[in-house]
Amino acid sequence: MDFKIIPSTCSYCGTGCGVLFQVMDGRLVDTLPMKTHPVNQGRLCIKGWNLHEHVISEKRLKSPLIKKDGELQETTWDEAIKTAADGLKAVIKDHGPDSVAVLASAKITNEENYLVQKFARAVVGTNNVDHCARL
Ligand code: SF4
Repeated sequence: MDFKIIPSTCSYCGTGCGVLFQVMDGRLVDTLPMKTHPVNQGRLCIKGWNLHEHVISEKRLKSPLIKKDGELQETTWDEAIKTAADGLKAVIKDHGPDSVAVLASAKITNEENYLVQKFARAVVGTNNVDHCARL
């Protein structure tokens, strides 16, 4: 059995608690609080204790879905991205860039969240950006 402890930072809110991910045989299995972290000092709220669960959930989507004929159907990433891009372009053309808002997620990394806001500002042309960690 291969067992590792990976230090990281909880991404669910701006507090930034230190966590320790337990990884067994290459699979994330649990989250523990980091006792030596200056922010949380060994404590986590209920969201932090369950930080790993969306990664290992059976309900996690592993391929994109597009609604066709009223039903969600699996599709390719290329088709999903083209469909989203075409929809965004149409809204921006008809109503302007500030008719679009971009909502980022705590379930992606800080680096990915940086790219989300960059996409909103530099590509879409709007400052309407928010993140669920602010809620
Ligand atoms: S969601 Fe909870 S555990 Fe995560 S950073 Fe915020 S306070 Fe800490």
